Amino acid sequence: MEISKEAAVKAVGAPEPEELALINALARRELEAGEVYTFTLRLCDNDIDRDFERFDDATLDQLAPMFVGVSGVFDHQWSARGQTARIYRTEVVDGDGSLTADGRPCRYLKGWAYMMRTQENAALIAEIDGGIKREVSVGCAVEQVVCSICGQELDACLHEKGEEYGGQLCCGVLTGASDVYEWSFVAVPAQRKAGVIKSAGRRLEDEARLGRKYLKALRAEVVRLAAITEPQAGHALLEKVSAKLDEEELLGLIKLYREKAGALTAPRVQLSYGEDSLPREIADGAFLI
Ligand SMILES: [Zn+2]
Repeated sequence: MEISKEAAVKAVGAPEPEELALINALARRELEAGEVYTFTLRLCDNDIDRDFERFDDATLDQLAPMFVGVSGVFDHQWSARGQTARIYRTEVVDGDGSLTADGRPCRYLKGWAYMMRTQENAALIAEIDGGIKREVSVGCAVEQVVCSICGQELDACLHEKGEEYGGQLCCGVLTGASDVYEWSFVAVPAQRKAGVIKSAGRRLEDEARLGRKYLKALRAEVVRLAAITEPQAGHALLEKVSAKLDEEELLGLIKLYREKAGALTAPRVQLSYGEDSLPREIADGAFLI
């Protein structure tokens, strides 16, 4: 279901006196209302994003004060000329009754920002005034990414974000705000909502993701083989134990269990534990650097 959300950026114009007081608390000199231009933006929310991640509700509350005073930059076309805006107020807004993709009440972090009404900013102000949508990207750091299925750290558990388990979509819950970086306007066509950048490099993120996938595949294999060779052991216990093991221990156990599983069955019968059940890049040995 497509959920319509407030545009990321909305013009406000000249600030009211109480807003101006907040701006002046940050400004280097006392500014007049006519000198500044203000607008609101949707910084981030608790809905599941394109990376199958979402902010924890409490984390949004923690992020709110951290964004005050943080500067935003505009895309290349603009930033070349040095335009910046600055957030002077934030608030976590309870949604308008709309629900997140997984059915929770929508909440979002709203920011109020100001920029100087200079010659250089005139065209940009006209764009915001004209309602030309721009995506807002926000950079921040969180303490941990928790699995929405089991509540453990996503790195350590057996679930993979984006996959469904018993009809429930697994996502990473971004928990515990630890830092905020700059935010920026990017001139891409309007998206449903603000984009959030959560890590430094795409490549690093991909590598980390593949590494997690590999470890998860190993853990799943240990649990599967253990269930065959030690049928009396409970599945939950096996999952818990395997989550604590590192690659070397997991590979050792897989070897041991495979031998044991082989001994349990009639000779020449091949168990279907093979590489089929592992992601292709793992079976190919791409990880064995
Ligand atoms: Zn999990």
